[in-house]
Amino acid sequence: MCKDIIRDEMKSKRKALSHDFIEYASEKIKNTVLNSIKDAKCVMIYLSSFKEPDTFALFKELQNRGIKTVVPVSDTTTFTITPSLATNDDLVKGAYGIYEPKSVVPVSASDIDIALIPGIAFSKKGDRLGFGKGYYDRFLSEFRGTKIGICYDFQMLSDIPVSSHDVKMDYIITETRIYNDF
Ligand code: ADP
Ligand code: MG
Repeated sequence: MCKDIIRDEMKSKRKALSHDFIEYASEKIKNTVLNSIKDAKCVMIYLSSFKEPDTFALFKELQNRGIKTVVPVSDTTTFTITPSLATNDDLVKGAYGIYEPKSVVPVSASDIDIALIPGIAFSKKGDRLGFGKGYYDRFLSEFRGTKIGICYDFQMLSDIPVSSHDVKMDYIITETRIYNDF
């Protein structure tokens, strides 16, 4: 399957990234996100693992600015995400080794202004390719806020295979620019 070939290629490219590059790119992405979300009161943010752009400094900074932070908590039996309130001092490793809050306090999708969404690849048409379980597609089918994909520039492809359940991003932020003319 074509999606899987792209997933394998992108995962191995990401594995090869140096810590210096990840730190450099994550700082750039953090600053671009902070400049782009000034009016937000409640932001859903993924907590990075697998050499994704690092979001922990951004997670803390959002809280410093008085913005409510929500993180996705994965249910590995239903492949669904529960958005839960979370703060920096209240985290524990959960499913897939991803950090999540110690106690889940669910937040309604309608209370979230902006969702910062990870991906294995994105396209210049605004499409997103995930890990292949559809977690974010299920969540996004009910989310009406602003969807911001986060990735490194090398993960931006001109085109990726899409299915009818795949949900387009409104913006994609990389270390070099914001993509939004989809
Ligand atoms: P990913 O978005 O993680 O890259 P896919 O788009 O390939 O993964 O979706 C993985 C699986 O999740 C698909 O088999 C699809 O049927 C299922 N799926 C995706 N979105 C939904 C949804 N809104 N409702 C039910 N199943 C879904
Ligand atoms: Mg999908």
